[in-house]
Amino acid sequence: MYGHDFKEKKRVIVKVGSSTITHEETGNIDYTKLERLVRQLVDLRAQGKDVCLVSSGAVAVGRYAIGLKERPQDLATKQACASIGQAYLMSVYQKLFSEYNQKAGQVLITKKTMTDPESRANARNTFEQLFNLGVIPVVNENDTVATHEIQFGDNDSLSAIVAALVKADALILLSDIDGLYTDDPNSNPNAEFVAVVDNIDDVANMASSDSSSDLGTGGMTAKLRAAQIATFSGADMVITNGAHIGNIHRIFENKDKGTLFVANKRDDVRVLDLLED
Ligand code: GLU
Repeated sequence: MYGHDFKEKKRVIVKVGSSTITHEETGNIDYTKLERLVRQLVDLRAQGKDVCLVSSGAVAVGRYAIGLKERPQDLATKQACASIGQAYLMSVYQKLFSEYNQKAGQVLITKKTMTDPESRANARNTFEQLFNLGVIPVVNENDTVATHEIQFGDNDSLSAIVAALVKADALILLSDIDGLYTDDPNSNPNAEFVAVVDNIDDVANMASSDSSSDLGTGGMTAKLRAAQIATFSGADMVITNGAHIGNIHRIFENKDKGTLFVANKRDDVRVLDLLED
């Protein structure tokens, strides 16, 4: 059982990666999973929580739509895929949320949105108003315009920055691995699962369990960076396996389903400084 009571959480960010919401064999959207995800999020709303979804998938879905076999390497194609895929993905989310009479809004941001004080304040106000209105914001990086200098690059960091911006008290990363291991469990049978991380500094060098796919960009390194940002800004963070969408409600029933990184609010750290250049 977690030390921190997830039933009491008021504002929750859930991050889902491309590999969780698309079929590995074809690259097309996994509609069953997406539907389950939406249901879980609506149920968190029904418990009175503010809920925000950070969803990847723009590039992967766009790539499928135009029939590309591999992840595009050049920027122009990637941006074109993101443009096509984001619009399509959002239309599917809107449809699924509307079945539960739940409104969803789209928020696309770049690193610049967060580093420029005026845009950051604007973004924060927009999120606050969406929460006031009972809307679930669906966030992604604005990949269509984000070039290297202004991109987060991975949605793990992005979701943690959003958690810091809106002062969320929980961040859930749906991943393709159960949580943090002491080593890569695919290559080391002695790798041990880590259920709770009280101090992020203790696990800073445990990023070798990098599970990576050619769909998303985040690995364990990105997740540990996200954990630093989230916990220092006062949110408990959990890495859980997105193969089982039901893990979301298990976490909020305090049935431990992943690795918990315990919140450790640090007013002396500017979380934006923890992002990679
Ligand atoms: N923003 C990218 C997308 O939606 C994915 C980034 C990531 O996988 O972390 O395709």
